Amino acid sequence: MKITDLKCAIIGGQPTIRLATNEGLSGYGQIEWFKPFIKSHVLLLKEKVVGEDPRNVEQVMLKIRSWGGFKPWGSAVSGIEMALWDLAGKAAGLPLYRLLGGKIRDRVRVYVSGSRSDLHTSYEITPDKISKHLEAAVADSAGFSIIKYGIGFHSPMPFELAGFFMGDARPGPPHLNQGMLTEQGFQHCLNCVEAMVDTLDGKAHLALDCGPGWALSDAIRFGRALEKYPILWLEDLLTGDRSSHVGVAEYKELTQATTTPIHTGEQIYLRQGFRDLIANRAIRIIGPDPMDVGGLAELKWIAEYAQLFGVQIAPHGVFNGVLGMAAMVQVSATLPDNLIAFEYCKPPTEWWPDIVDGMPDNLVVDGHIEVWDSPGIGATLNEEKTKPYLQPEDQDFFN
Ligand SMILES: [Mg+2]
Repeated sequence: MKITDLKCAIIGGQPTIRLATNEGLSGYGQIEWFKPFIKSHVLLLKEKVVGEDPRNVEQVMLKIRSWGGFKPWGSAVSGIEMALWDLAGKAAGLPLYRLLGGKIRDRVRVYVSGSRSDLHTSYEITPDKISKHLEAAVADSAGFSIIKYGIGFHSPMPFELAGFFMGDARPGPPHLNQGMLTEQGFQHCLNCVEAMVDTLDGKAHLALDCGPGWALSDAIRFGRALEKYPILWLEDLLTGDRSSHVGVAEYKELTQATTTPIHTGEQIYLRQGFRDLIANRAIRIIGPDPMDVGGLAELKWIAEYAQLFGVQIAPHGVFNGVLGMAAMVQVSATLPDNLIAFEYCKPPTEWWPDIVDGMPDNLVVDGHIEVWDSPGIGATLNEEKTKPYLQPEDQDFFN
């Protein structure tokens, strides 16, 4: 089997990769849906994969892995890796989990960021509004057992609350802001967490997405102040989402200073990027995103390495789309017992699930997704149903 073409279309905002072969099979990969600009990066790699046998996944990856980097530049390589595994599975007539060593669980726990219906960026910033938002998330029929909420520099607090921190708020994504909190800002964060804990009242576990951007001293104080609460993790306090580096020494100091579990890693590319964080036990929980870290097999390798050091894993993936979610189920079924849960992937549009074949209708039940047995990533694009949604420049996506 040979790869004959590589295509990338922006479907409902979601960059979607198709690898075509000389045997008529197609393999699909996806990239976070706020990264349409990655399309040109994906297409740069076409000449490197055409002519290769997609079933030799690693052999192809050796040709393209150096073309990736920290988020967002790991996306193209990661999305192509997903499409290679999809083809390898389809060619063998086996679900991907069988190719990755077999499953060790029949259902996989997922966590939800904010709530299923709201975008993860629409975080509320006052205790009463947060409580209302969380009540809706808890009432969701999917029964999510872990809910993650944004706070501090991972929320609009820096520019919507006057005097929140010592700097002047920059407009744009909250990630652009960083610095020491004022006492008022720090207490506001504590008040919000107290409201979250009261609202959840033990009905779901609480994780907090915090930054990056906290001063190390504030991060230590925050972790310690929350030790009285059942917080599952504090994510990206120091570096993380959109950082171009890993603060291993800083994370080690933070992790050792508090019993509240510290989490990071969604921006990191490749196992090498995680090595020092894990081997130094600088972190309690890692959150690689398979569509940024270098792919599904890369995620599995990192999970196994982390387990050697007593580090847990809760993979990121909120924007990875419907096909991305199918792939997450497949790889998560094979991860060792340090897996906590992976992040539920919110479809970029309401109709996206309708153009995909092979997925169960009622995907999340009791906060878990049952592992199903379709070849490859377990789902595939329905050509006829997808065509109406192709943009003019992507009309040749299935050709
Ligand atoms: Mg995050």
